[in-house]
Amino acid sequence: MSFMEKNNKRLENEYCYSGHDLGSTWTKEKTAFKVWAPLADSVSLRLYKSGDTDDREVLETLFMKEEDKGVYCLTVEDDLHGIYYTYLVERDGETAEVCDPYAKAVGVNGDRAMVIDLSSTDPEGWESDMNPHIAEGITDAVIYEGHIRDLTAAPNSGIYDKGKFLGLAETGTHTPSGDASGIEHMKELGITHLHILPMYDFSSLDEKEEEPGYNWGYDPKNYNVPEGTYSTDPYDGTTRISELKQMIKVLHDNKISVVMDVVYNHVADAAEFSFNKIVPGYFVRTDKKGNLSNGSGCGNDVASERYMVRKFIEDSVYYWATEYHIDGFRFDLAGLIDVDTINGIINRVKSVRPDVIFYGEGWSLPTAAGRKVSLATQKNSSKMPEFAFFNDTMRDTLRGGLFDKTKGYVSGSMKGQRKLAKCFTGLYKWSKSPDRTVNYISCHDNNTLHDRLRMACPDVYETEIARMNKFAAAFVFLSQGIPFIQAGEELMRTKVNTNGSFNENSYKAGDGVNAINYSAASDEIVRDVYEYYKGLIAFRRAHRVLRLSDRYDVKKTISRIRSGVGEGLMGFKLRPRDEEEILVYFNACMNQRLIVLPYGDWDVYVDADRASAEPLKPAKGFATIQPLSAMVFKRHKRTGDL
Ligand code: CA
Repeated sequence: MSFMEKNNKRLENEYCYSGHDLGSTWTKEKTAFKVWAPLADSVSLRLYKSGDTDDREVLETLFMKEEDKGVYCLTVEDDLHGIYYTYLVERDGETAEVCDPYAKAVGVNGDRAMVIDLSSTDPEGWESDMNPHIAEGITDAVIYEGHIRDLTAAPNSGIYDKGKFLGLAETGTHTPSGDASGIEHMKELGITHLHILPMYDFSSLDEKEEEPGYNWGYDPKNYNVPEGTYSTDPYDGTTRISELKQMIKVLHDNKISVVMDVVYNHVADAAEFSFNKIVPGYFVRTDKKGNLSNGSGCGNDVASERYMVRKFIEDSVYYWATEYHIDGFRFDLAGLIDVDTINGIINRVKSVRPDVIFYGEGWSLPTAAGRKVSLATQKNSSKMPEFAFFNDTMRDTLRGGLFDKTKGYVSGSMKGQRKLAKCFTGLYKWSKSPDRTVNYISCHDNNTLHDRLRMACPDVYETEIARMNKFAAAFVFLSQGIPFIQAGEELMRTKVNTNGSFNENSYKAGDGVNAINYSAASDEIVRDVYEYYKGLIAFRRAHRVLRLSDRYDVKKTISRIRSGVGEGLMGFKLRPRDEEEILVYFNACMNQRLIVLPYGDWDVYVDADRASAEPLKPAKGFATIQPLSAMVFKRHKRTGDL
């Protein structure tokens, strides 16, 4: 057993602190500081006027007292709102100066914490602000995944605060050609949840730069603080908080719930991470040789299974859900986090906010968690009934393999239909009910849907790519589960490098590659795809039967049509209890297919060209399904006896 392992064992046995008061707690009269620093020789609190580490003027350095379970405490009798602070942790003759891992506010670049009166950051009406989809379930959600910069930064977006939280608090915005942008675009599209790529404080960008550049932000530095480059003043600890709250308030006012992408599986830099500087090596996993475990591919894996790490993650998610009114959490590489931590988070948050949704990436990755630890992978889905996983089977079968240029079902491959048929029902291997599967065909990772289809079919007209795009979207929105799209997918988003190639990992590629061009909607082909997405979303939202959450309801309601199909043509019958019957067909053939409709009058709601919540045209007897397209029929409602 290594020294580190022995140490960690001792911490697990003797130093588990369960209080909910770590960090600094402000009142007008006094501020209480508490930091978990077991095995330290001493800890002091250092107060500063400035949050900038270039300003070395110290106000005061005060000794902290060790109390229960390795927690060092100090209460300062004064109004410390706006005062910055660090901890000086002394061990074996060496002193480390660190930011509070529980910091709620920080100075520029997140190296000093700030004491804060959080009520001072609340926008008007915050006390009555709430999730606009509070009464709905996770399968009712339509999730739209975007990045603060991508959604606002395009030169023609018509948005004033480009690349900022406040840019997403602007309403009524549009491009010079009149296409809606930002919030207006999302409203027009009809999504319910905006899922935002990391917006906690990350380390890759220098907040002191006038033009800090671009990064997705999967490199956490301060988990409980918003990122400074998205604020208009990263130097002032309150600004980023109040601006993020304003953004959330305006989104809520516009009926859009907010999901936060959270990265609790690794930190930006294991050695520099504040928690590790206070308790060396505790926050991350090491293998038997003492090397950092690296299942994340980002240099380290967080040891979520350790008591105080698990508590830290739980406290953090709870804080965002309550203080910031965040309505959902997307866990990056959840497969590196243990099942008990995921369930602990969900239970804690749902005890006060049952409306919050949880989902994440359930890939199995090698990590040094030990064999006794059960990880939050797809395979273990049944152990986490309130957590959904991204469905890569649907994605890859529809569009073709992730890292190659092969065709998928929507570009004319007949492979994988049995898998797809299962995915359509929301019940697929690990997904025991539709509320466990996030259905999608593109996200920020890898090529955009447009680019991936173009790679598989380099020689077809753009109208053909548009047709495949619509076909893929139809599959996602008509399937049981939780539909999810990458922002801009509905505008045939493309990520093109300066040399003309497609970018498959644009995490630092800048606005030129990443910013969403809303005026693409003025292009005739793109407009058509955009309208189709709007129609699909409206149709889904209008039909409860597409949003089942229980496996038995699925089995009772949905059956596969067996006659007159085959060879790339799939059909499903949906028989809701209190609505008219619905037929859904998918034709992956390059030729049109004739089907026989059951007796009676039908209406078409979705075909190769259009999708709508209103009937497009009547159908009776026979119908023709165009190549590479979906078609939906609903039994015509009888308005009275003849
Ligand atoms: Ca930062």
